[in-house]
Amino acid sequence: MNKIEALVRPNIRILSPYSTARDECQGTPDIFLDANESPYPGIGYNRYPDPRQKALKQRISAIKGLPVENIFLGNGSDEAIDLMFRIFCTPGQDNAVAIVPSYGMYTVAADINDVKVRGVQLGADFSLPVDELFAAADANTKLLFLCSPNNPSGNAFEPAQLLDLIQRFPGIVVLDEAYADFSAKGSLRHKVLEFPNLVVLQTFSKAYGMAGLRLGLAFANAYVTDLMNRVKYPYNISQAAQEAAFRALEAPVQDKVEEIVAQRARLAGTLPSFPFVKKVWPSDANFLLVQVDDPDRLYGHLLSDGIIVRNRSRQPLCAGCLRLTVGTPRENDNLLQSLSRYE
Ligand code: PMP
Repeated sequence: MNKIEALVRPNIRILSPYSTARDECQGTPDIFLDANESPYPGIGYNRYPDPRQKALKQRISAIKGLPVENIFLGNGSDEAIDLMFRIFCTPGQDNAVAIVPSYGMYTVAADINDVKVRGVQLGADFSLPVDELFAAADANTKLLFLCSPNNPSGNAFEPAQLLDLIQRFPGIVVLDEAYADFSAKGSLRHKVLEFPNLVVLQTFSKAYGMAGLRLGLAFANAYVTDLMNRVKYPYNISQAAQEAAFRALEAPVQDKVEEIVAQRARLAGTLPSFPFVKKVWPSDANFLLVQVDDPDRLYGHLLSDGIIVRNRSRQPLCAGCLRLTVGTPRENDNLLQSLSRYE
């Protein structure tokens, strides 16, 4: 058994996955009486979708520059996060290490799966605590969750530091790159070809503007993507989502990403001039973490102007902080106008 197989839950290692009606078919039939579907098309969704999303994955493979066998598609990256626990962690026994503060779903998915998360606080400037992350791991640690650029701090970590962790960490390293399209530091997804313990998560919910379709990506060694395909629900991506994503991927997103990055710089330059803004943290993402005098009061003020932001002031290291997503130039104008009326 190799090192990655040894990390997999014994029951998952030997799982016989559900075999869908069409998996077993070799020919090219045109009458489908195998899956108890309705024979009437209605608005076009009477047939089950492709459980492996072959056509969409080929398109994604061309865009992302990785073979189809290294790509998993999930119902949002949240599905991939949950699958990590279900595949690698025996409930009540194994644990995961994660940076703090970070995306809340790592802990929620762990709690649902009865897996303990050992949270390791980032440095006061949100730097990566490499030694502490190693120190938190023991023989039952199966996963390490890293997020770069990190939510809610916004900073991307140095690729060399991340690679050092990936190389030396004894378990699976899940690197969540939901916001990598906005970062000059780029992506480490190609490193999955080199490191079998690396799983890189991305999403079509942010730069690609498809949050409503629910499409998350995981890049990993083919053995790991195969495990993810075996454990997922058979038809996890609907026909509607597969078709809509295919169409959406025709349009380039680079111009929108550049506009958001430019607007991020504009907000980061303007916000410090408000007397109640104490600090604007540097961001490599499509949001800014902003420390203010009275976050609850400012949150209420913005809401009364119809603007909702995320109050992160109760998160570790985030006292006083609101997280502001970068909007369109007009939405950002409205935000700044609302802030100038605040007293
Ligand atoms: N990872 C991070 C860091 C996120 O912030 C989010 C959503 N805010 C997600 C993953 C989940 O994305 P998805 O819509 O693909 O489930």
